[in-house]
Parts: sequence; C-alpha cells; structure tokens
Amino acid sequence: QPFRRISCMWEVFFLRITDIQVGRLSLPLAHPFKTALRTVERLEDVVVRVVGENGLVGYGEAPPTAVITGDTIPSILCAIEEYIKPAIAGMDLMDLDAVMERLDGSMVHNTSPKAAVDMALYDLWGRTLGKPLYQLLGGAKTAFETDLTISVNPVEEMVRDALEARGRGFSILKIKVGKDPALDVERIAAIRKAVGPAVKLRVDANQGWTAAESVSIIKAMEDKGLNIELVEQPVAARDFEGLKAVTAQVDTPILADEAVFSPADALHIIETHAADYLNIKLMKTGGIHNALKICEAAEKNGVKCLIGCMLESQIAVAAAAHLCAGQGIITMADLDGPSLCASPLMPGGPVFDGAMITMSGDPGIGIEAVEGAQWQC
Ligand code: MG
Repeated sequence: QPFRRISCMWEVFFLRITDIQVGRLSLPLAHPFKTALRTVERLEDVVVRVVGENGLVGYGEAPPTAVITGDTIPSILCAIEEYIKPAIAGMDLMDLDAVMERLDGSMVHNTSPKAAVDMALYDLWGRTLGKPLYQLLGGAKTAFETDLTISVNPVEEMVRDALEARGRGFSILKIKVGKDPALDVERIAAIRKAVGPAVKLRVDANQGWTAAESVSIIKAMEDKGLNIELVEQPVAARDFEGLKAVTAQVDTPILADEAVFSPADALHIIETHAADYLNIKLMKTGGIHNALKICEAAEKNGVKCLIGCMLESQIAVAAAAHLCAGQGIITMADLDGPSLCASPLMPGGPVFDGAMITMSGDPGIGIEAVEGAQWQC
C-alpha cells in the first residue's frame, strides 16, 4: 500500500490522539428526499472533532440512516462516547493501521459512528502530513462528475425534477423507483423521453422489487431501448441468491448497494458474481479504512465501484470524494449530498460545482470550519 510508505518520509513519528468530541448538525434540504424506504425533510447529523496533541483537528460526520445501517442519533453518540473514544484515545495516529483496527474492533456493527471517527482520523493524519487526503490514498484523479438523485414521486414531478437537474448541468441522473413496481417502467420511459439520449440514467430500486419483478422490469426497459447505465439494488439486501439470479438474467449491469457493507460482503459478491458493480458508502463500510480493503479486492478482480453517500453534508461527502479521487477502481460517483442541501457550502476541501467535484490542495479532507454545528463539551 503506497500511502503507508509515503507517511514514513515525513518528519512526524508520533501523534497522540488527545480528544474526540461530538456535536449535532442540522441543515435544511432544498427539497424533501424520498426513496422506496423513507422521506426526509432535514439533514440531522452527528459531527465529530478529533484533536491531536499537535493542536490540529480532524472533522467527521455521520447521518442516522436507521432504515439502512440501523444507526440513530442517540446510538451514534453513545457508540462514539462510550465505546470508540475509550478504545482509541491516547493512541499514536501515525500508527494508522493499528488505530483503525482498534476502532473497527471497538464494537460490532455501528458502521456510521465508526465512519465518522475514521474520516476525522484520516483528516487529522492528512493535515499533520500537510497533504490532501486523496493524494495519500493513491491520487488517481483530481476531478470527477457526480450524478444527482431524483426522488420517487408522481411521474410528472419526476420528469420536472429530471429536467431541472439537466438544466443545472447534471448529465448523470439517479432515478429512485421501487415504491410501485407497476409504474416503474413508465416512470423511466417518461424521464428518458424528456431528457433525451445524452443523459446517463441510473435506476435505484432500493430493494423495492422481487427477483422476478426485477427481471421483468429490467427486460422491459431493455426492450424499450431506455439505455439504462445500471440498476442498483433491485432486491432485498440479504437476498444474495435473488441478486445473483437477476444479474445472470439481464444485460443491464447490476450494482449491489444495501447488499454490501463490509469487505467480506464485497468478496462474497465478487466471488459468486452476485452483481456487476459495488456501491461503496463510508457509512456502510465503517469508514475509509475498510473501503480501501473493498477497493483492493475490486481492483484485483476488475470489478468497478461507485462511491455513494447517505444524506450527508459536505464533511462526509468530502471524505468520500477524497477516497474516490484516490482510487482508480472507483469510476462512478453518487456524491450529491451537498447539492441536496439548501445551505451554502462550508469553506475548504473539494469544490462542489454542480456536477463537477474538483479536489483542492488543502491538507487532510480540507474542510476549514464546520459551520452551524452545536458541539457538546
Ligand atoms: Mg442505493
């Protein structure tokens, strides 16, 4: 792993983790966010500050995505304060792998609080080394394009949202379906007709279909020539057999999302060819450390990855952007969290400009200040 060798060249040999603080961040969304699983009006996240003995601070964030990860605001706060902090406080951050293994082993599950602390540690590590994190994670690219999510709604509203997104410069749209399988082909056909052939369409069913429904819906979209780039998580998260059956029976590539949390899940999907692509989200992997393990397995097997996010503000999305820019095997991005928020962007870090995300030279993840957070002291 080249990024570990790089760290030896720097003159920082020891950095004690002196404190881990938590807070709350509440931001209004531009529009309610609706999927087959839920409707959300506001982003309500936990934020984390990791303090090093050099006085530098690393930032992290975790959203409470109870319907996917099981994490809630009280559970995230409790996990960090009562399990994660006691496990790693006082450790030497320059021994990064040891800290990350201790963090991962501090308790089972609880991937969102682990991710918040993991990214804050990587942020502090990068700041201490004076390098932007994406360069330390492999430096594969300096800019990339994200899609924008279109919530599941009545067809006319989805068409209107898709046209508005195209107008804002988004040429890749992720369409949420799955709430009503009978209507889904009609939805996608209407959107394709409205936006024209140049826009890439990704379809996310969020587990909304059975395997048989998936095959018939996807084949119907193929027969109509709707030119769908991929279909994401058609069947229930733990239905690996169903996922595999769908992947085998359709031409459209299938992307595993809720089915892949850990590096072990990723390996299982790769080995059984249960899906064509993997969706990596820091809130599922428990952070960058495990995400890198998934990237390594994917790279070895030539399985392309998409980096996604939950309803996250710019802090966690910036961390995901660094991972995406670092790793060449992540060829697709669904990092639209900041685009869904109504609030202005925080200073520093990757530049979010419509569909384009451009990395900056700011050290670590790069966010200079978390504005509007309420820190617990
Ligand atoms: Mg998804």
